[in-house]
Amino acid sequence: MSTANSGPKIAAIAGAGPAGLTAALELLRRSNVVPLIFDLDTQVGGISKTVNYRGNRMDLGGHRFFSKSDWVMRWWQEILPIAEDIAGSRETTRISYQRQSHEFRPQKLAATSSDAVMLVRQRLSRIYYRRRFFDYPLKLNAGTVTNMGLLETARIGFSYGQAQLQPRVPEASLEDFFINRFGDRLYRTFFKDYTEKVWGVPCSEISAEWGAQRIKGLSIAKALTHGLKTPFRSARDTAQRNTETSLIERFLYPKLGPGQMWEEVARRIALQGGTIRLQHRVVGIERNDSQVTAVTVRDEGTGVVSRVRCDHFVSTMPVRDLVALLQPNDQRVIYVADRLPYRDFMTAGLLVRKMRATTRQSAGGPRANGMPPDNWIYIQEPDVKIGRLQVFNNWSPAMVADPETIWLGLEYFCRVGDELWSMDNARFLEFAAGELERIGLLDRRDVLDGTVVRVPKAYPAYFGEYREFGRVRSYLDRFSNLYPVGRNGMHRYNNQDHSMLAASRAVDAITGTGGEKSSIWDVNAEDGYHEEIDEVSWKAAL
Ligand SMILES: Cc1cc2nc3c(=O)[nH]c(=O)nc-3n(C[C@H](O)[C@H](O)[C@H](O)COP(=O)(O)OP(=O)(O)OC[C@H]3O[C@@H](n4cnc5c(N)ncnc54)[C@H](O)[C@@H]3O)c2cc1C
Repeated sequence: MSTANSGPKIAAIAGAGPAGLTAALELLRRSNVVPLIFDLDTQVGGISKTVNYRGNRMDLGGHRFFSKSDWVMRWWQEILPIAEDIAGSRETTRISYQRQSHEFRPQKLAATSSDAVMLVRQRLSRIYYRRRFFDYPLKLNAGTVTNMGLLETARIGFSYGQAQLQPRVPEASLEDFFINRFGDRLYRTFFKDYTEKVWGVPCSEISAEWGAQRIKGLSIAKALTHGLKTPFRSARDTAQRNTETSLIERFLYPKLGPGQMWEEVARRIALQGGTIRLQHRVVGIERNDSQVTAVTVRDEGTGVVSRVRCDHFVSTMPVRDLVALLQPNDQRVIYVADRLPYRDFMTAGLLVRKMRATTRQSAGGPRANGMPPDNWIYIQEPDVKIGRLQVFNNWSPAMVADPETIWLGLEYFCRVGDELWSMDNARFLEFAAGELERIGLLDRRDVLDGTVVRVPKAYPAYFGEYREFGRVRSYLDRFSNLYPVGRNGMHRYNNQDHSMLAASRAVDAITGTGGEKSSIWDVNAEDGYHEEIDEVSWKAAL
């Protein structure tokens, strides 16, 4: 696949995730530059894809559609309008995400089919610990005290007092950071295991600065104030009924999962003359000192390698891989990029007939088949490896082929090549079902079917050599027609909207209609909301 120098300008794009697809559609809308997308996967959507397993749809991680950007909100609705009952009935709709909210006016756009819509969903998630459900965010209320027991609650209070009187000085590690704010006992009860599960690194080896940057607004005083204002509510009250309206989290969600958005975008790209080559991996980059001139691409099916001349190169592939292909002369750049840390992720999709209805269920209680009402549940039990449990039925009923069944996602944070990652699928499914059985949520004999999805580099991490990332960025910045965008593309905790905004800025720079290329790096530079924070934000909201 070689193209001549004359003819239309070509933007080669590595990756058909939210960033790559947004860049392509925007190029088609705003310019004559022809986008050519390559993705090594067999389907579009990147980490935001939906995996369809025998009619049951899996969302890898649970993707809430929320953005503070009006541009993104309009963009999404133009692709998938809000379901008519909402668009027709409300003047404005408010969605919210981790203490941020956004009012928007649903656009009254006709959907191409009754399935091609976005739903407005209300979040419910709880913490499962000591075989009991705790509110999320954790609250100092009757339910919590009952679950913990009076003695343990008193111990936690005592340990908190001790930490206030004798804080750890200097506050060097994330462990010090947590203990100084919550006391040793609460840290060990709620923070330590989960944080270490997510990151795979002991809290004592993570810098305190990381905590300060990433976990804003931590304060037990706030929790106490909140607790005293709303003393000892009944556990049932946690079903959002008594929660201030402004605190209820609502988000948009494509009826058939997040990938539906990106499949529809891909369809439009193809209709408008763009090209998407799936199962094509970018394996080489030709460059001079200031420009990328061509990429080489391998067809993962046939092994055939082809060269594609390009005028622009938008990269959403991991920075580590991009730098390796650029082959810098500066050995330090190679060293740092090669050691950028990532956390990987696995999900077991389990189709079950019923779940065990556990006692002390708050928030509306389970259904007759034992299905909890949550979108997802944080599993805080130290004797299992599972991190979160998704209940896909509660994201959108259309995610499940048979409404009589429960479609679960058992999420594990891991490392490529580690024990979990290397387990064969059948064993992993057995293992995952066994974990749910052990913590009392499932009988293994009620499992009907299952599948496993592995997501390498799900989380770009900010440890270790990341501190020298500036050096890598400076190197990438020298290529005037290279645009690293997206989540792994920028090694940043970008949500979909951030990836899209970065892609839009790349298109601004390509078409000469916006700011400097360097402004791409400003997207999400200040934001305090990321889904990683979310995983510890119940602590932040204590
Ligand atoms: C557990 C979890 C929960 C999340 N929850 C939310 C949420 O609630 N809301 C939200 O908005 N976001 C959420 N996100 C973030 C969201 O998934 C990402 O922001 C988004 O998918 C990033 O889009 P992207 O295009 O930048 O990158 P990706 O989605 O990673 O896409 C990059 C693409 O590049 C391809 N690629 C890589 N290397 C090559 C190569 N050499 N050649 C060709 N192709 C290549 C990959 O196959 C992939 O398809 C979550 C993420 C995770 C892991």
